[in-house]
Amino acid sequence: MKSITVLGGGESGVGAALLAKKNNIEVFVSDFGKIGDRYKEELLQHNIPFEEGGHSFEKIEETELIVISPGIPEKAAVVQQFRLRNKRIISEIEFAFKFYSGKIASITGSNGKTTTTSLAYEILKQSNFRVGLGGNIGYSFARLLADEMEYDWVVLELSSFQLEGLFDFQADISAIINITPDHLDRYDYNFDKYGEAKWNLAKHTKKDGLLILNEDDQASVNLLKKYPVDTNIVWLSANNPNVLASMESNKIFEINLFGAHNYFNASVAKTIAESVGLNEELIKKGFNDFKSIEHRLETVAKINGVLFINDSKATNLDAAEVALNAFEQNIIWIAGGTDKGNDYSKIKQLVDERVKSIICLCADDSLIRNAFSDVVDEINTTQSVTEAIKFAVTASREGDIVLLSPACASFDLFDNYMHRGNEFKKAVFEYLDEVD
Ligand code: ADP
Repeated sequence: MKSITVLGGGESGVGAALLAKKNNIEVFVSDFGKIGDRYKEELLQHNIPFEEGGHSFEKIEETELIVISPGIPEKAAVVQQFRLRNKRIISEIEFAFKFYSGKIASITGSNGKTTTTSLAYEILKQSNFRVGLGGNIGYSFARLLADEMEYDWVVLELSSFQLEGLFDFQADISAIINITPDHLDRYDYNFDKYGEAKWNLAKHTKKDGLLILNEDDQASVNLLKKYPVDTNIVWLSANNPNVLASMESNKIFEINLFGAHNYFNASVAKTIAESVGLNEELIKKGFNDFKSIEHRLETVAKINGVLFINDSKATNLDAAEVALNAFEQNIIWIAGGTDKGNDYSKIKQLVDERVKSIICLCADDSLIRNAFSDVVDEINTTQSVTEAIKFAVTASREGDIVLLSPACASFDLFDNYMHRGNEFKKAVFEYLDEVD
């Protein structure tokens, strides 16, 4: 390979460009939008030519291969145009794989990817293997390989977008945590198409490797029937996670992970570690060293016996459902944001059983009010996080949980879910200062 164009100048695209440069491949980066200053600087530093604000078709046409960033959908005009010209187009993950000879443990799913990937990484790090972490978390796979480090194992979090455009990529161990509706706008609002993108990971698992599946996930069960794969398969279940024997009531070993869904994530991480060859002692140590991840059922503070939990990353209904299921206590639920087509009737009974007060933190509260006003007596609405905490404090008694788990995207009031979670934490700490 002599020359490539990388489409997209973000973490994946710049990673691919750096990896190409390191391997003496001529590379051109082309982005339809604006390239971030940090990435532009890196490209300049490495003398990598780039363009932004549009694509020069002639220039791209001259290169041998197109490497596409995960954020660019198949239906983008530039992709369609080069498909018509039979240009070779591969994903950043596929491109990176060409330069990697170590082993791969890869994890996908609609919810739980980051938790499981981080946990698996934390455990594998206890071994003598040189272990890398990347993909949809931290560094892109390509950037990881462009750095000087060498790895025996790389643990990759992979989104459905990253699983499109794979050819030779093969994982030694794969896990599909669950497949529930998300990002459907990219897949013509067709759940089957989205599921098939996720299932690409199963198809790209080595024959003598291991595929970990969730037996409670109907979509995975159906996909295996429809598209059988030739590899070793292990089925796990949230109802029978193999970490239960070592668990305290609501904790796994010493880590602060709440809820049955996290027992499942932990059992996936444990199965990966066992397959890599780690013994129980190292696995236990990995669990113990693991810190809970920001914005995912993260404990913020316990104030006057009330626990404040930040689950801002719950940007869809399934994630909020598992969060509500994770606590037995009375819940003061802070929810709402940019709706993604939620069908709240799915969780009406759960909300009836567990939630004593709802605080809508959003621009438009109509869907939540319509869904729950007959099962929850108290529903307040605000666009201010500080006021949300005030409502929560008034509604709560010792032993209750104040849970930010919005079931919605954050863009109506915040830059992103991290901004929302940080503002929530800030307001909780301000309240803590007041009562101290
Ligand atoms: P992802 O990286 O797939 O978005 P995260 O680990 O960041 O997943 O978790 C996102 C949200 O999904 C969290 O708010 C959490 O409550 C929920 N979640 C985590 N694991 C699971 C699971 N196994 N099943 C369903 N929901 C989960």
